Amino acid sequence: MVRDVWSEFLVIAKEEVGSRIVETWFRAVTFNRWDSYQKIVYLQAPNQFIKGWVQSHYTALIETHLKRLLYVNEIKIVFDDQQAQEEAAHQPAEVVLVKPAVSAHSNTVALHKKEPSTFRSYTFDNFVVGPNNSLAYAAAQAVAEKPGEIYNPLFVYGNSGLGKTHLLHAIGAEIKEKNKRCSVLYQTADRFVNEFINAIRFDKVHNFQAKYKAVDVLLIDDIQFISNKEQTQEAFFHIFNALYDAQKQIIFSSDTFPQDMKGLAERLKYRLAWGLVVDMHLPTLETKIAIIKKKAEMSNNECIDDDVAHFIASRTVSNVRELEGSLIRVMAFASLTQQPVTLELAKKVLSHTTVQKNNMPIGFDHVIKCVNKYYHYNIDDLRSKQRSKELSFARQIAMFLMKKVTDKSLRDIGMFLGGRDHSTVMHALDKISQQAQRQQHLQNQLKQMEDEILSPHV
Ligand code: ADP
Ligand code: MG
Repeated sequence: MVRDVWSEFLVIAKEEVGSRIVETWFRAVTFNRWDSYQKIVYLQAPNQFIKGWVQSHYTALIETHLKRLLYVNEIKIVFDDQQAQEEAAHQPAEVVLVKPAVSAHSNTVALHKKEPSTFRSYTFDNFVVGPNNSLAYAAAQAVAEKPGEIYNPLFVYGNSGLGKTHLLHAIGAEIKEKNKRCSVLYQTADRFVNEFINAIRFDKVHNFQAKYKAVDVLLIDDIQFISNKEQTQEAFFHIFNALYDAQKQIIFSSDTFPQDMKGLAERLKYRLAWGLVVDMHLPTLETKIAIIKKKAEMSNNECIDDDVAHFIASRTVSNVRELEGSLIRVMAFASLTQQPVTLELAKKVLSHTTVQKNNMPIGFDHVIKCVNKYYHYNIDDLRSKQRSKELSFARQIAMFLMKKVTDKSLRDIGMFLGGRDHSTVMHALDKISQQAQRQQHLQNQLKQMEDEILSPHV
């Protein structure tokens, strides 16, 4: 039955994004029907809030897996009742990301498809400016105002979850809005790498180069992912030079300062810092409160009281993404139970998560301590971008054990270990479990480590 596809999807999604997300968002969604002729999946959400959230955050995830589960190359996800609305409202066309002159490989077109919805929601308007990001914000606006003229390239760096991607999208959207004919290409560096690899495989390197050289504005997110990929760096170097010489605007984001990027050719490091380099920091409490209020307003047209915003902001310390996560949990709960967002409700929802944590005594730190005993790498090493063989192995062991002894998602684990992708964690789990099957000593050691972590006196 086609409907089983959705159950299968839930299982996969749980692995990929964690059970919390599946329970909060996907469980509430029903799979209505599959139009195999037009290749459209019709889903239904209980309310606008869930629909909007799932659409803007998880369309790509749903598409990827349903395509596979339904054995098709292309798929469209439509929420029932949405079509009629759209036709009636005649919404303006979505920001078109790029009109690449040539596509290196059909894959890349598909990859871009998922961008517009998020692209549209990350704008300057809904970016809250505070002392932590005002410089980056001002630079981004200046660049959007006069692409290619002032700061070229613009390099924005800061830890994960501080708003780099948001700013990049805002620049792209703004330029596009001002000038529809301007071709703006946003790409993450890891997709850039994959695209390049495919281009080599299919003998399309020339098209690949041509596509990038033809744009007016190039935004590369998380450029650190081209570290240690020498051939990609080489290809990128030529693209950079061509665009730069033609005074096309180039914008990068990264988690480190250009000179500190490991595994990057000197000449590239040098070029990345040619224009303006700006950093982003953790927001202050006031900025956090402002962000919460803005997000609440945006996603649900709802005003959140100061005391509630203050409560959520003071509870979340690490980054804006996490802040948003807390807010979402509160709002989703309110929405699902049809209650107003009050301080009591926020306390209830967020304290529930702390209670859960207390019930689950094993935290990531605990795992790291144990890994450190066996492999002598500390938390900073494990979180770093360094990838020496031993360190990578220790990191993979840590990932494996974290998954084994905690109920955290692959995504949480990746985030904790230096903002790595869930697929990196997945890869680590596969690798370690396969290796343990082949090597008895590794199997023993893992068992021993696990016992140690689980024993109360470590
Ligand atoms: P990064 O790319 O630095 O890891 P993102 O741009 O993905 O971070 O930001 C994570 C989340 O936090 C996004 O949903 C983004 O909209 C939000 N965010 C970060 N900074 C701000 C801000 N100053 N104002 C509004 N939202 C923000
Ligand atoms: Mg980002």
